[in-house]
Amino acid sequence: MAVRFIEDLDISGKRTFIRVDFNVPMDKGQIVDDTRVRAALPTIRHAVSRGARVILASHLGRPRGKVNESMRLEAVGAKLAELLELEIIASNECVGDGVRKLAQDLRDGQILLLENLRFHEGETKNDPAFAEKLARVAEIYINDAFGTAHRAHASTQGMVSHFKEKGAGYLVRKELRFLGETLREPKRPFVALLGGAKVSDKIGVISSLLSKADSVIIGGAMAYTFLKARGDSVGRSLVEADRLRVAREVLDSLGDRKVDLLLPVDHVVADDMDAAEGQVVEHIPDGKMGLDIGPETVKLYAERIASARTVFWNGPMGVFEKDPFAAGTMAMARALADSKAVSVVGGGDSAAALQKSGLADKVSHISTGGGASLEFVEGKDLPGIVALEV
Ligand code: ADP
Ligand code: MG
Repeated sequence: MAVRFIEDLDISGKRTFIRVDFNVPMDKGQIVDDTRVRAALPTIRHAVSRGARVILASHLGRPRGKVNESMRLEAVGAKLAELLELEIIASNECVGDGVRKLAQDLRDGQILLLENLRFHEGETKNDPAFAEKLARVAEIYINDAFGTAHRAHASTQGMVSHFKEKGAGYLVRKELRFLGETLREPKRPFVALLGGAKVSDKIGVISSLLSKADSVIIGGAMAYTFLKARGDSVGRSLVEADRLRVAREVLDSLGDRKVDLLLPVDHVVADDMDAAEGQVVEHIPDGKMGLDIGPETVKLYAERIASARTVFWNGPMGVFEKDPFAAGTMAMARALADSKAVSVVGGGDSAAALQKSGLADKVSHISTGGGASLEFVEGKDLPGIVALEV
């Protein structure tokens, strides 16, 4: 099974439906961050340059099946027109006779932007009738919205079966390359650096990486559930009581595995997240919370990353949003930037941390999909990708 790429399809003069991810953060009708609009440009530019009749569709926010004036794609259309320096024909609907007429009238190289897909509940419900209506207006289907590829929605899955000609855009192809090919057959040593808030969010990916990686390094709040499971004192650090068992099972399984699992050897602690500063400790005292990895841990982890040829990073090492607890995460960003390894970063907060470090352009790939990238790395099939296979 293979996924074709937009460059391999003959889209010239064809009505080409491109599912993009224009789910940008909005505030009072303004786009707060246009990264996702910019990320879609290579695919759109390619389609226009080939003379395709481009039909763009996306969701924005969670309107839950109803029209929500604050979630219209109007501002996105304006931004797109500005970035492409092209006219964008906007529709205030995503299905129906009006859309059909606009699609029919499209000339080669013109762009039609449909209204927010989630104004119809058929989108997230993957309603076959809604999917058929979406599909009706186009001859070719392209998915370039990796962030929603783990959802079986009408625009990512249901409508795709109506197309013979289908494929991935540039963004999806890049994700498939780095999260798929690179991590499936990694150059070794392969080091996985995992952190963030919850073991429960990440246990799938941890388990899967324990059998693929040479080293699995754990930081963030997640580390405390593992440390407690091992019998260490963790004070008032965040611990998921209902995950202690699974954490213990992971630790017990290590004897039979080739992988090294690294846990923090020191910590930055404070009374709570709002503290103005933290203290470095080896053992967490009663009443204190672990909020970042300590300097010895940073050294240990950075050395491991320096010797890697492939690194996957998901989840911050501490409460990086607060300066007193950002050092561990920033040091890992630096380690990644300095390493010669192929480096892949997934996760919304991890991407934000990397942006904060100013080193984002030093890693090989930052995934645009939070949930989707974790599920993919975990080895799960993503409905939006499976639907593209021919
Ligand atoms: P990602 O979005 O990259 O997958 P997560 O959502 O799993 O990452 O985790 C990010 C959150 O974890 C951040 O908001 C960060 O403040 C929090 N976090 C990291 N370490 C700790 C800690 N020691 N205690 C409390 N929260 C933490
Ligand atoms: Mg997150």
